[in-house]
Amino acid sequence: MAQRIQISRNGGPEVLEVQTFTPPDPAAGEIQIENKAIGINYIDTYVRSGLYPATLPSGLGTEAAGVVSKVGSAVSGFKPGDRVVYAQATLGAYSSVHNVIAEKVAHLPAAISFEQAAASFLKGLTVYYLLRQTYEIQPDETFLFHAASGGVGLIACQWAKALGAHLIGTVGSAEKAQRAKQAGAWATINYRHENVAQRVAELTDNKKVRVVYDSVGKETWEASLDCLQRRGLMVSFGNSSGPVTGVNLAILNQKGSLYVTRPSLFGYITTQQELTSASNELFSLIASGAIRVEVPENQKFTLSEVQKAHSALENRQTQGSCLLIP
Ligand code: NDP
Repeated sequence: MAQRIQISRNGGPEVLEVQTFTPPDPAAGEIQIENKAIGINYIDTYVRSGLYPATLPSGLGTEAAGVVSKVGSAVSGFKPGDRVVYAQATLGAYSSVHNVIAEKVAHLPAAISFEQAAASFLKGLTVYYLLRQTYEIQPDETFLFHAASGGVGLIACQWAKALGAHLIGTVGSAEKAQRAKQAGAWATINYRHENVAQRVAELTDNKKVRVVYDSVGKETWEASLDCLQRRGLMVSFGNSSGPVTGVNLAILNQKGSLYVTRPSLFGYITTQQELTSASNELFSLIASGAIRVEVPENQKFTLSEVQKAHSALENRQTQGSCLLIP
């Protein structure tokens, strides 16, 4: 018997339930994967709470790393025993065994552990498209990235450093500031106590920045716009403090003819070819040591500890990535 997490109603962490089940055989285009490490992402909390609607009852989770146990009849390029990692919009990765569409699966290089992969795949692919595609960060460029000591944030700090760019990262505590700096942030701002726009102006000799990456949402939206140069780009890619709603477009005019985009990973990386080129770039940065993902023991949880994991993430008690180990 296998184990998975299910929700049959929306709500707080208490709606997460452990369920035993018999895994079905993979369909023609699917691969069955025995998950060894599962990535926990903030998006999972939106699905659980109902901010992102799912048909209930539903599984949860979008990424994991593990070993192929069976392949569907139409699958080529994978065989039982292969080490793999996947990220996909379809829910259900919070499970000891999972059938996944082959197109969403990548081979895992031997140098990368299951835990490293599950801690960095979805989050690293996100940093890839944000810094390399939504806006192409240049060497020496200074930019603002919110929640810099989170899962996505710590990878962004390291990626920015590898590009030779200056990432100004917002953080919620002095300890998190230190962690972001160690990872490669050029400067940090504690947005619980400091005025973000004022600090960005100081740090840039009043030039401000051409791009802001904002995953915090509601609480930072307006300050983020104030950090932008004339005709700058606001990349709003998450809702950790709640969604941005009711925007009067005139604000973009008032604050300097600004641009705004609201991107998502699966809008950027949809084809197998896109997945291959993005994951190759990510894996080579991990293999070279430019990006390190180490998950502290107290951020690794069993499936039956999933409620605790979601509470820690939502209460801003974590740094870097969190994992479920089935
Ligand atoms: P994180 O590990 O970054 O956790 C969220 C962090 O946000 C917290 O640790 C906290 O850091 C900060 N935060 C600020 N305000 C709040 C608040 N009111 N409540 C809770 N947290 C707050 O999560 P992930 O790395 O998994 O994801 C980061 C963000 O990126 C999320 O918003 C997620 O939705 C988004 N995302 C978007 C994708 C896309 O393609 N659009 C893909 C992947 C992620 P601190 O204490 O330092 O403030």
